[in-house]
Amino acid sequence: MTSLGRRAFLVNTGTCVAGASAIALGFVPPRAQAQETRQYKLLRARETRNNCTYCSVGCGILMYSLGDGAKNAKPSIFHIEGDPDHPVSRGSLCPKGAGLVDFIHSESRLQYPSYRAPGSQEWKRISWEEATDRIARLLKDDRDKNFIQTNAKGERVNRWVSTGMLASSAASNETGLLDFKFARSLGIVALDCQARLCHGPTVSALGSSLGRGAMTNSWVDIKNANVVLIMGGNPAEAHPVGFKWVMEAKIRNAAHVMVVDPRFNRSAAVADFYAPIRAGSDAAFLLGVVNYLLTHDKIQHEYVAAYTNAALIVRDDFQFHDGLFTGYDAKTRSYDMASWEYERDEQGYAKKDPTLQNPRCVLNLLREHASRYTPELVSQITGTPEKDFLHVCETLAATSVPDRTSTILFALGWTHHTNGSQIIRTAAIVQMLLGNIGMPGGGMNALRGHSNIQGYTDLGLLSTRLPGYMNLPKDSQQTLDTYLQDTTPKADEQGEVNYWHNTPKFFVSLMKTLWGDHATAANNWGYEWLPKWDRSYDMLAYFDLMGQGKVNGYIAQGFNPLAAMPDKNQMRDALSKLKFLVTIDPLDTETANFWQNQGVYNDVKPEDIHTEVFRLPSTCFAEENGSIVNSARWLQWHFAGAKPPGDAWGDGRILGTIFTKLRALYAKEGGVCPEPVLNMQWNYRDPEEPTAEEVAREANGYALADIQDASGAVVVRKGELLPDFSVMKDDGTTSSYCWIFAGSWTQAGNQMARRDNTDTGLGNTPGWAWAWPANRRLLYNRASLDPQGRPWDPRRQIIEWNGQRWTGADVADYPPTSPPGSGVGPFIMQSEGVARLFSRKGLVDGPFPEHYEPTESPIMGGALGKTVRHNPVARMFPDDVSRMGKPEQFPYVATTYSVTELFRHWTKHSRLNAIMQPEQFVEIGDRLAGKLGIAAGDMVRVSSQRGYIEAKAVVTKRLKRLNVLGQELDQVGIPCHWGFKGATRKGFLANTLTPAMGDVNSQTPEFKAFLVNVEKV
Ligand code: SF4
Repeated sequence: MTSLGRRAFLVNTGTCVAGASAIALGFVPPRAQAQETRQYKLLRARETRNNCTYCSVGCGILMYSLGDGAKNAKPSIFHIEGDPDHPVSRGSLCPKGAGLVDFIHSESRLQYPSYRAPGSQEWKRISWEEATDRIARLLKDDRDKNFIQTNAKGERVNRWVSTGMLASSAASNETGLLDFKFARSLGIVALDCQARLCHGPTVSALGSSLGRGAMTNSWVDIKNANVVLIMGGNPAEAHPVGFKWVMEAKIRNAAHVMVVDPRFNRSAAVADFYAPIRAGSDAAFLLGVVNYLLTHDKIQHEYVAAYTNAALIVRDDFQFHDGLFTGYDAKTRSYDMASWEYERDEQGYAKKDPTLQNPRCVLNLLREHASRYTPELVSQITGTPEKDFLHVCETLAATSVPDRTSTILFALGWTHHTNGSQIIRTAAIVQMLLGNIGMPGGGMNALRGHSNIQGYTDLGLLSTRLPGYMNLPKDSQQTLDTYLQDTTPKADEQGEVNYWHNTPKFFVSLMKTLWGDHATAANNWGYEWLPKWDRSYDMLAYFDLMGQGKVNGYIAQGFNPLAAMPDKNQMRDALSKLKFLVTIDPLDTETANFWQNQGVYNDVKPEDIHTEVFRLPSTCFAEENGSIVNSARWLQWHFAGAKPPGDAWGDGRILGTIFTKLRALYAKEGGVCPEPVLNMQWNYRDPEEPTAEEVAREANGYALADIQDASGAVVVRKGELLPDFSVMKDDGTTSSYCWIFAGSWTQAGNQMARRDNTDTGLGNTPGWAWAWPANRRLLYNRASLDPQGRPWDPRRQIIEWNGQRWTGADVADYPPTSPPGSGVGPFIMQSEGVARLFSRKGLVDGPFPEHYEPTESPIMGGALGKTVRHNPVARMFPDDVSRMGKPEQFPYVATTYSVTELFRHWTKHSRLNAIMQPEQFVEIGDRLAGKLGIAAGDMVRVSSQRGYIEAKAVVTKRLKRLNVLGQELDQVGIPCHWGFKGATRKGFLANTLTPAMGDVNSQTPEFKAFLVNVEKV
């Protein structure tokens, strides 16, 4: 026994299951041994599996609790460590994960519901009954008064605009499903989630380029790369455990790791190469790379010809001039996209020139478009020394051969810009030209932030979305037929899979989940009950309406918008205009306390704020069962290891209780448009407290009748769980909340809880958890082989044709029986079957990317010989114009970032993390500090047009002075973790400084490049 470690012992005895206890297995060391050594601290502990609640690496954790569940013996988690069996984390945890036990026991954990009356200075404890009764009454009264059944045109729209809801990013998928049903049944259109503030542009850009908006490869797959480009992210700090696979690539694969970033950050510290860049100029840099690859003929020719739309011919009337694509309307600040289109043949298919000679074919237009971005000009715009830029170009270019790959890792450094979607599109184009999409060790690896933000995006918790990346109908789509016609794409090329042609099956299956037996063919499956939208009610738009006094109620669930939204003072003023605010959170957040005077940190007069506030305590990850989706699309199931503190409730119970009370009110009193509220399927065993298991099965979906295949054989029996989405029907005989989750919980059981970490090749572990879609781990993997089915690189073969079907280490992202040479394209979600260098109508700011300056920029002159400097369609509200600063007053470029010890505004509530990073700071380059007479540790004031913060100065050499278009430029780093609540010293919310402008495709704000001034206090 002494030679057997604790972990080895548990593995050998097969106890790696939730709830296994060492004592239960008779693991009692001999007495003599116990006397010789310190008592084994986990003895008698109960072990429960879970996942870290912070970032989207999704590290596995083991939680240890004491207390055997007997009366008055409440289990309490006293130790957490990494799960050594987890294929990504392999037992590691970063400083955030290592502090999880302090998060669970944080002094900021809320224990009882509390209430703040209008104008009051204090919280008052109330009962759950009182709180939920009052909230249900407020919701119903506001809905009945303001519900819009028909719009001005007389169209039926069934929406409720005057109350909105923000959903979490770390709660489980099962909570997310309940959020959706709760909000949409009431007609709430202002439903949004954290994805709006982080990876929205990734979804827009990768969806329109490749077919799906997700990370293409996986964390472990990074080890297969020859070159790793980290740009727009800092995984060594923000995703530390995922970053180990970059180091693995370096150690085992001699990978060359390059970092391009405004700061010499911790990723750069262990990279092979670092290049500085001006924040907000990434598109210019990447367009320069595109230009380099094309002018030096460093592209993977066969891949580009077969797997991209390089050969398709674009209409003659599509042009680009002076920074504008054709169709721009300056009055509406929007594009008419009619000319962003292919030439069509008589059958409506796109015309093509396989010889690539036609000057209007996509590749030649791209060549011309990118030709302006010469190395000299790129260097001038970005501040990156030309030789550094060329090093990146040459290194990437070396992977244009079939047997070498580069992977690109990015995160919020690319998304947080008014040009965010186009920055990411440009990088995707680089990868298409190099033949790196679909390749092991390649791809566009969007490193998601919050632990379940991928899941919340999948679940359709965004204002104009439905689950599984379908759209919520808009006003003009008055009938089901119109909606399905508009949203079901036709193939652009003959014989392509065009998988979205199945949209009617996914949609009707969703309707059957929402409305159950109330959804019939006769009533178009309840289509009328869905709210229709007339405009986006995303967070930015909704806070703008709130500021105008047009919003009465708001529910913020697991979300702290006062700290997360841009321009904090403006957001606080908007919240002050609400009649009621409901927060549902494990922690005491700044948002719940927005009405409190916190001196310089939140200088308000509570007596002037007439918002009534309900602060409802919810469970955290450690106290619930459920699934979350990591960045690589793995749905991982976790288990509760303890009960919540005090009288905190799970989110499902809170939503279930309020919803049940609302329904009772509608049943008793009637009201405006009660049908969707009463008809929403909420048939849980206990409607006031749905269980995660029953909701997870609902997300997967059921057969509502026997399902037959083409030969008439029954493949799924009535009442059984669906095995996958291929069996879905549009005739009401299947239900599924989220079609891409079909297969996650089947007749064989909960696939998300699987624990087989066998490597089937190249680090692929398909037996661990379950990945959407269809348990595929590497998206577009058919593109890793040539059209004849031969791998581009035999060492990277991940799927193969066995003569009858595709098989191998991964599930083929391709029709399983379409043989090599069939000519079917590998980008099966695209109507062309190929990846898009020219994105026909995918993004509303242009089919090709273009560099535009951030809304606040130090560059006043027109670079690139064009007069249009800023993204001409960027999201901007009239009130925001006066909140923009000028370089004369605010001469420095600021960029926000995260440090490894803290996660957003959550870990400041955890004592261990507060000890590691106790106090707010800003980072200033030594040359700027010298110029301003600032020494390390001095207090400085950083101000923008929107407000100021004060913090300690950290003076470093990590921020270099750059030469940009002939002028010297300094940058300032603003970590964004502190606030006026939590265990750290009080600090300013960093979003006091940031502007509210956004990317027009996703409305994601520009947190990463704005203008500030710096002064010594
Ligand atoms: S924060 Fe991310 S990297 Fe760190 S332990 Fe948690 S999941 Fe892992």
